[in-house]
Formats: sequence, structure tokens, C-alpha cells
Amino acid sequence: MIPKTFIEELKSRAEVLVVVGRYVELKKKGANYQGLCPFHSEKKGSFSVSPPRGTYHCFGCGAHGDPLRFLQEHLGLSFLDAVKELAAQVGMQVPDEEASSRKEQQRDTPTNAGGQQPCMALADVFARADAHYRAQLRKSDQAVASLKRRGLTGETARAYRVGYAAGPRNLAGVFAQYDAGELLDAGLVAQREDGSRHDVFVDSVTFPVRNHEGAVVGFIACPVTDDDSPPYSLSRPSAAFRPDRVPYGLFEAKEAIQASGYAVVAEGGCLSVLALAQCGIGNAVCAAKDPLSLEHLKTLLQFSKRVMFLCQSNAEGEYQNADAYARLTAQLPGEFRIALLPSQVSPVSCLRSGQVETIREQMTKARPIARQSAASAA
Ligand code: ZN
Repeated sequence: MIPKTFIEELKSRAEVLVVVGRYVELKKKGANYQGLCPFHSEKKGSFSVSPPRGTYHCFGCGAHGDPLRFLQEHLGLSFLDAVKELAAQVGMQVPDEEASSRKEQQRDTPTNAGGQQPCMALADVFARADAHYRAQLRKSDQAVASLKRRGLTGETARAYRVGYAAGPRNLAGVFAQYDAGELLDAGLVAQREDGSRHDVFVDSVTFPVRNHEGAVVGFIACPVTDDDSPPYSLSRPSAAFRPDRVPYGLFEAKEAIQASGYAVVAEGGCLSVLALAQCGIGNAVCAAKDPLSLEHLKTLLQFSKRVMFLCQSNAEGEYQNADAYARLTAQLPGEFRIALLPSQVSPVSCLRSGQVETIREQMTKARPIARQSAASAA
């Protein structure tokens, strides 16, 4: 527990103008300062900072609070992390031995489900980048339009914390130390041969990959395009982010998996998972990186012993992955079924053409996977 007196001291030392001014461009107007609200998309400048009051207020969206609140909201930090961040900014030492020893213990007992806990520095980098990307999405009409074209709603985008990376030095606005090693380690920034650095994700929609506790451990990104199956790129693999092992969407799907009693493995990348969720099939995940691996399944089995594969056909009408699923599951304990989607029907296409019922129908007809593989082999 952090003593109340410390929080009070911290609040009295933090200047709202300095803290908010790090992230928002502000212009003096009377006794206050004004700028574009970082919490909603606007061109007017409804966001006001009042140094005498020590608060910010947005007349557009109602966002309101003190510097501590601002860091929580803008950077997506927990209260404790916001206290630490603010303390670092004003040069105070957090008297927080109990919490840090608890953190040490957590680090000593890692769990493999959905990836290990990232180390503090990386966790912080990912949390801040995530908050920034989400804030950027609200400001990019083009990126929002590309999601709408695919039929995705704002609600779905918010649930999966979809963001937008502008670039090419987009993250320099978030991290004062753009050249810090953590940004390279996180795989969000890359270095050119001449030593200069640039953002890895440029003009791309971002999908944070979260571990089973909800912490962001990496990102999947795809360029803003009309294409239904855009090329995905990934942030750099680390101890916490193994794309060949981590199922995407597991944290978001956990409740629905529990409620329905089974998990769905979708093909077609993270857009498929979002599309299914929007159609009311919230228990779906996909491989963070294709192809689906034994490790992806082992992680998933920690959350559900019943798994259904939604198998899409290729242009020739062949279900290429059906045999692979049979092989993968042969040695695993669990109940595996497979649903074959008719050609031309995919989770992504269902949003626009109303094929949700077709998908549901095929799901009710799902067959145990062993019989399926025997039938396809015959
Ligand atoms: Zn606002």
C-alpha cells in the first residue's frame, strides 16, 4: 500500500500544465490552456487545462481529472503504475516495498498460459503504445473507415482494443526516449543501417495481443487497405510474446469460452476473431501467427477441453487444414470437433453478406475430428 500522505504530496507537486503538456499541444487562453482533446476525435480544441485548479476538462466528451487521472486514461495505466509514472516525472521515490516484493514473486513464478509476464519495462512500453495506438485510431478517419468497410463496429474495435499506428516516428510522441533499448526490444521501433530509428508499424491498424491476465505482450498489425485478407505483421517475439504459441483473442474470449463450454479456433487471422465476436460468437481465438501449432492448442486447452475448428475452404473448395487439425489433436487430451464452412463463406465475409446463420448452422453440424479425418482420407 502506498501511504495516503505520499499520494497527497505527489499531487501537490505535479503541475497539470507540465504533465498534460507532455502529451497534448496546449495554447494559452485567458487563465487556462487549450488544445485538441486526446480522448475524442475533434478539430475544435474543446480540451482545457486549468493550472489554478490543477485539472483538465473536455467540453466535448466530458473527460476530466487531475494529472494522475490523465496518466491513467491517456497511457492506459493502472492507478499504481500511474503513481509510479507521475512520481518519476516529478522526481519522487515511491515508498512501495511491499508491492515490489510481490512483483518479484510474480516474476519468479511465471505461467505459460498465453505467454509469461513481460518484464516491467517491456510491459510499460506495450501498455503505453497500446493506449497511444487506440487514441490515434479515434483521430484517423481513414483507419476508422477501413474498419467500417469491413463491417466492424466501434464497439467491437473497443472490445479488442484496436488501434492505429500512423508513423513513421509516431511513437516519438509517447516515449521521450525514442532511442531507448526497450522500444527496440519490444519490436515497435527498428534501426536503419545508418543508425537512425523508425516505427515498425506505419499506417497500420493494430491489434494488441494480450496474455491471459490482460497485459499487452505484443501487436499484430495490418496496413490500412480494402483487402479482406491483408498481410499481417507482428511485433518482435520475446519471452512474453511467442506468436507461434499464443492464441490471439484468448483474454477477450475467456468469459464466452467459459459460458459456452468450448473454444472456437478460427482461420483467417485476427479479423476473423473480431468478425465472429461481432456476430455473437465471442468464444473464438486464432493463432497469433499461422500455422496453428501444438503449443497454440496446449495453451487453449488450459482454458477449455472442448475445441471446435472453423475450417474454411480454399478457392478450389478444399479444406486444406482439416488433416493438419486431425494430426495436431491426435496426441492431445480433449474433445475436438470440426465445422466446415462452405466455400465463399468466411467470418470476415459474414459481416457484409449476412452469412452468420450459415456459420452457425455449420457449427451445429460440427463433427468429431477423428471421424472427419477418416472420412476425408477415405
Ligand atoms: Zn474530449
